[in-house]
Amino acid sequence: MSTLLIKHAHVVATMDGDRQEIADGGMLIVDGVITAVAPTADLPGDADEVLDLSGHVVLPGFINTHHHFYQTLTRAVPGAQDVGLFDWLRTLYPIWARMTAEHIEVSTKLALAELALSGCTTAFDHLYLFPNDSRLDDEIEAAAGVGLRLHASRGSMSLGESDGGLPPDSVVETDTAILADTQRLIETYHDASPAAMTRIVVAPCSPFSVTTDIMRESAALARSFGVTMHTHLAETMDEEDFCVSTYGRRPVELMEDLDWMGDDVWFAHSVFINDDEIGRMAAAQTGVAHCPSSNMRLASGIAPLRKYLAAGVPTGLGVDGSASNDGSHLLGEARQAMLLARLDAAPNQSGGSLLSARTALELATRGGASVLRRPELGSLEPGKAGDFIAIDLNRLEYAGALHDPVAAVMLAAPVNVDFNYVGGKPVVQKGNLVTLELEPLIERHNRLAGELFQP
Ligand SMILES: [Zn+2]
Repeated sequence: MSTLLIKHAHVVATMDGDRQEIADGGMLIVDGVITAVAPTADLPGDADEVLDLSGHVVLPGFINTHHHFYQTLTRAVPGAQDVGLFDWLRTLYPIWARMTAEHIEVSTKLALAELALSGCTTAFDHLYLFPNDSRLDDEIEAAAGVGLRLHASRGSMSLGESDGGLPPDSVVETDTAILADTQRLIETYHDASPAAMTRIVVAPCSPFSVTTDIMRESAALARSFGVTMHTHLAETMDEEDFCVSTYGRRPVELMEDLDWMGDDVWFAHSVFINDDEIGRMAAAQTGVAHCPSSNMRLASGIAPLRKYLAAGVPTGLGVDGSASNDGSHLLGEARQAMLLARLDAAPNQSGGSLLSARTALELATRGGASVLRRPELGSLEPGKAGDFIAIDLNRLEYAGALHDPVAAVMLAAPVNVDFNYVGGKPVVQKGNLVTLELEPLIERHNRLAGELFQP
């Protein structure tokens, strides 16, 4: 049995059912699971490891629900800087087609490092193309050393240009190959237990890059193993036009036709969803990964975030791939969600109430846990996983904001976290990653990124 005692935190924002915030708070974590959250005076005096977090705010670890790790290699690509989604994709597909297993490995570590330092303890990744010798195994093996929980997806593209899809034929696969590899990965890596570090998600890429057959067959396969399902949906008006002209259906209607609604499904973006469709998603408990930076970067549109929350649609945050953000800063993304929802509340937009700092924090914590179907994550309370972050309040960015340190985390400039623990084990301590060396990683990542542009 190993015990970890957190004590004297300035405030512990539990994000529990009552949203308790405990002054001079602490926690006891036994074998990776929280057994007590209370004022320091009410906790035991000793443990195997004791962490005094005086002057820090403590929060549940953040959960990222949409990313493409490999895109860290193609940030700020000149031809893809100032265009919308379809032209952005057409510019990047040929570059991504040159990736190898080593690119997947190094980009996974880089993205996870950035996520960890920005407060993420559980990350979902949507990998949907497997050029050359690359496999999802490369990502899973690379992630194991970093220490964050990973939901890795066996994504797919099966509708190439010659069949009316957007991606070039060189990066699409056959239905048979996709389904066989997906089943192999579920059988090899998927851990359904509450303490799982690795889960597999079935994730065809988007309506304009896969066939309806692979959507239906992927859903059947996922449900036969009890794993969750994910895809991009209603990201842009171009996609809606594609669905209407190709299938005579709006994106959500298409998903209903293809058995892609349910509490085991979540969609990325979901910008162009009308009120009636929001009601249907809420009834089905189909979730949303809200990606505000990407939606702004590609001028996709403003997702109806406040309507999702009001309707009870499970909603979390996604930094999205690093070619359309171009960063993986999850704390910054939560702030961006708050700011974009406030812009949407302007009198010349949708109007309505302002999204609070605490609601933005809920999206990053409880919201993400509900989207990924991880009830043991997303809040700090007995029985939940010991996944937490801590931020030192004594810093330039928070000077003058200590009237409300919890709100300051969202309202002040985004910062990196000082501590990040997953299952009671350290990933970040005193602002530094303890599970990998950043400098050689960045050097190798830059070299490999450069090679992608010089085939
Ligand atoms: Zn995406």
